[in-house]
Amino acid sequence: MSAGIASAWAREDLEALAGRGLRRFLEPLESPQGALVRVGGETLINFSSNDYLGLATSPTLRAAAIAALERQGVGTGASRVVVGDSTAHQRLEARLAAFERSEAVLLFNTGFAANTGTIPALVGSGDAVFSDALNHASLVDGCRLSRARTVVYPHADAEALARALAETPARRKLVVTDTVFSMDGDVAPLREILAACREHGAALMVDEAHATGVLGVRGAGLCEELGIEAEVDLRVGTLSKALGCLGGYVATSRAVADLLLNRARPFVFSTSLPAALCAAAEAAVEEVEKDDTLRAKLWRNIRRFAKGLRELGLPAEQRSAIFPVIIGEPDAAIDAARRCREKGLLVKAIRPPTVPEGTSRLRFCLSAAHTEGHLDLALEVLRQLGVHRGG
Ligand code: PMP
Repeated sequence: MSAGIASAWAREDLEALAGRGLRRFLEPLESPQGALVRVGGETLINFSSNDYLGLATSPTLRAAAIAALERQGVGTGASRVVVGDSTAHQRLEARLAAFERSEAVLLFNTGFAANTGTIPALVGSGDAVFSDALNHASLVDGCRLSRARTVVYPHADAEALARALAETPARRKLVVTDTVFSMDGDVAPLREILAACREHGAALMVDEAHATGVLGVRGAGLCEELGIEAEVDLRVGTLSKALGCLGGYVATSRAVADLLLNRARPFVFSTSLPAALCAAAEAAVEEVEKDDTLRAKLWRNIRRFAKGLRELGLPAEQRSAIFPVIIGEPDAAIDAARRCREKGLLVKAIRPPTVPEGTSRLRFCLSAAHTEGHLDLALEVLRQLGVHRGG
């Protein structure tokens, strides 16, 4: 029976994953997102969400989504280049362009789609793309899909990048990097990377997924913090994390946005985001722009948690809301996550292929919704577990 062939393949591969401690399982939340969530009948402090400002359940966002849902319904029926475009999409793009201080913004259904769609729209065979060794999977896949020669440079090493740019002949050169790295929470040396791009005539594309709403005086990301927004060719942001919604976007020039609209395959060939989501995202940008209370609270939490980790003898960079606690082997990381859970913390073990072999870890993601008590409890649990001593 041919229908059994794929199942046999699947069973074989699942067993291999399980044998290496790498099989994943889903766990549904029985409550909304938040600092406290209900899972498997237990209430736990949530350290695994990217809802950095706690906006995912905000009454303002809900009200905006409900009003748009009532007006425009659920589905959009087509890609935006067919009849799936609407004033809600256009308004959100205009709002995001003002927030990002960019000439144009183009929306994608996810940050993942923004990255995989954008790179192949800009470079192809005969070109070269230079990618940080720890870039997010969506940038990696974008490079692969582009058919450009991909040069992976050592993590956050602008000098190695400059050498690679000098040594690689290509028609067009594009450098791609996360600004905040998703598994380590460190930041890219963007000024140095920009200087290398300038020297070698390369374009620069950055992924601000974990920086949107978190970094910068206005919350527009690391480029804003460094005052280099206007100098970076493409800045990818996401609506899915600090903005509490779903979606991705590219802040860039009108010309690049127009090219992407014509060529980025996830934009052209996929049904557009629901209007309700666009309206909620617009409300989220407004919240972030109007007042920085949530971001200030998040940063107070970041400083308190980083100080606590350092007091435990653990390294803590304090550059973002992401704090890795490196454990080592996958089984040990799973065991540490299980023990954290017994003490009331929901923190996930991150294992290969998401992170390099030997660096399986607990990844703590902080939110403005966490109280000081939540953070102190987490630090106390880490102390009791003796994670810093390899316990
Ligand atoms: N880039 C980075 C750095 C990410 O961490 C993620 C999400 N994990 C994405 C892009 C994808 O964004 P989205 O969840 O909106 O698809």
